[in-house]
Amino acid sequence: MSEVILKVKDLKQHYKIDQGWLKQDSVVKAVDGIDFQVMKGETFSIVGESGCGKSTTGRTILRLNEPTSGEIIFEGQDITKLSYEEMRRLRRKMQMIFQDPYASLNPKKTIRQILLEPLRVHNLFTPKERLEKVIEILEIVGLSEYHIDRYPHEFSGGQRQRIGIAKAAILNPELIIADEPVSALDVSIQSQVINLLLKLQKELALTYIFISHDLGVVRHISDRVAVMYLGSIVEVSKTEDLYDNPLHPYTQALLSAVPIDHPDEVKERVILKGDVPNAVNPPMGCTFHPRCPVAMDICSKVQPIPTVHDGNHSVSCHLYN
Ligand code: ADP
Ligand code: MG
Repeated sequence: MSEVILKVKDLKQHYKIDQGWLKQDSVVKAVDGIDFQVMKGETFSIVGESGCGKSTTGRTILRLNEPTSGEIIFEGQDITKLSYEEMRRLRRKMQMIFQDPYASLNPKKTIRQILLEPLRVHNLFTPKERLEKVIEILEIVGLSEYHIDRYPHEFSGGQRQRIGIAKAAILNPELIIADEPVSALDVSIQSQVINLLLKLQKELALTYIFISHDLGVVRHISDRVAVMYLGSIVEVSKTEDLYDNPLHPYTQALLSAVPIDHPDEVKERVILKGDVPNAVNPPMGCTFHPRCPVAMDICSKVQPIPTVHDGNHSVSCHLYN
């Protein structure tokens, strides 16, 4: 049995929006009470359309945004209670990879400076050992010492993401939250970067939370997948179960839009009505009901609670109550 590395309990991130002095401030319920756990060594993916709260979830777990409420239990400890200094030290174990490595790498610093910095900040190793670590990690991510005094703009998008990955991995963390790490890359480069992430996971015994809107990418790398809609997790299951037997009408609709692997497979496409509603005024009941092709009376009134099917497949939908 593998152990739980991270447990998220009823986590909320409500952003207050200042509307000016004439109007009352409004609240964006970007993450509105989510629960999940991540096992050590697994890849746990979070998928959903743009704006559903995936990035906010990732940033809030690392307390880059302070949670509005809820618990984040990492290796048995509720990290929402840690002081700033304790949290700063813990970040060595929890790192993030961003969609746009160009925005997350300081353009005025060389690769040497960028990669030495986390080691220095966390006061790890002697200066000589630090340099060895930098060269070692560059080689692991498919670059070399030859690149060490170059600046981020001298690299291609794929190489820059390799540097972003090196920056996260050099601290030998336990957990990496990768927020759309390949979404900005050419399709031909995406699989190279994915393969690098998989290789690193094996070599460094990493746990990943992989955030993506791309169900095709997620399928090939995840052990389990959580589907988010408007600040809530609507379905969680092992990857095969989710793709073979999606339960939530939203998951079914998302999957029906993914290109099929086998051309002779017949698939009925579900077209979702309307846009994602606003997280400032989410619909009553099940937040998906205005777009749901099979909505019932109860769906506009009562918020569904998660129910578990076939052991580990959890869904929040009145169809299954
Ligand atoms: P995703 O990553 O799934 O595209 P986000 O987590 O970025 O979604 O955003 C979720 C919701 O929260 C969106 O409605 C977005 O506009 C809003 N949001 C994100 N960050 C902030 C912020 N700092 N202040 C106010 N609203 C925000
Ligand atoms: Mg995002």
